Amino acid sequence: MLSLRLGDLTTEECAALLRSPHPVALLPVGSTEPHGPHLPLATDAILSERVCEVAAARLREGGVTAVAVPSLAYGVTRYAAGFAGAISLSPETTEKLIEELCAAYLAAGFARVCVVNNHLEPAHVDSLARAVARVPGALFANQLTRRWGRTLSDEFRRGDCHAGSYETSLVLAARPELVRDDVRAGLAPVPISLSVAIREGRHTFVEMGADRAYFGTPAAATREEGDDLYQRLATMVTTEVRAALELADEASP
Ligand SMILES: [Zn+2]
Repeated sequence: MLSLRLGDLTTEECAALLRSPHPVALLPVGSTEPHGPHLPLATDAILSERVCEVAAARLREGGVTAVAVPSLAYGVTRYAAGFAGAISLSPETTEKLIEELCAAYLAAGFARVCVVNNHLEPAHVDSLARAVARVPGALFANQLTRRWGRTLSDEFRRGDCHAGSYETSLVLAARPELVRDDVRAGLAPVPISLSVAIREGRHTFVEMGADRAYFGTPAAATREEGDDLYQRLATMVTTEVRAALELADEASP
């Protein structure tokens, strides 16, 4: 079987993949930003890459030759201003990058390209949505929609999930060696909802009261929760991709 990652393929292997009936590019999008004292700056990209790989494997089982393409590990990262390692693009540049990448994958012969994102700052998500809307054949599997948000964890739905148990569980399941476990075991809960704070007009982690750049309950994270969440996020992707290809839903995993 060809690798699930496009970047691992040779040009001839890529050409073979493009001759299959439904070649689909899954584009992981993340950020470079602080995720508390216990998770790496690349957390969002690590999550998106793993979701794409899990979804690509499941799509292939259902006859769709999907592949996780190299990720875009930057985005609009303004809430994290003031912490070391917050590297932000403008919304305009983020939108243009996504638009051009989607158009390039379609021009290269992919039938569809699906953006898979795990950096949930509203200005960033809006940039992705605007970009995808301008490119026929591109789609955005967006966990901030009601349809998919309700399939995730309680902490995710409350909105205190930045670097909390939700994201920490996902890193534990994908790259456990990157979680500073001795640190996270001692982190007190920060039960502040990002979505509520945003509505109240607070626009940085510092203004919101997250003085170590995490929310929620990192100490409660488990690898098992992460494995379960990857399956749920992958279901979002496989369902959206199969609908875009006008194929029936996959058989229940
Ligand atoms: Zn994150």
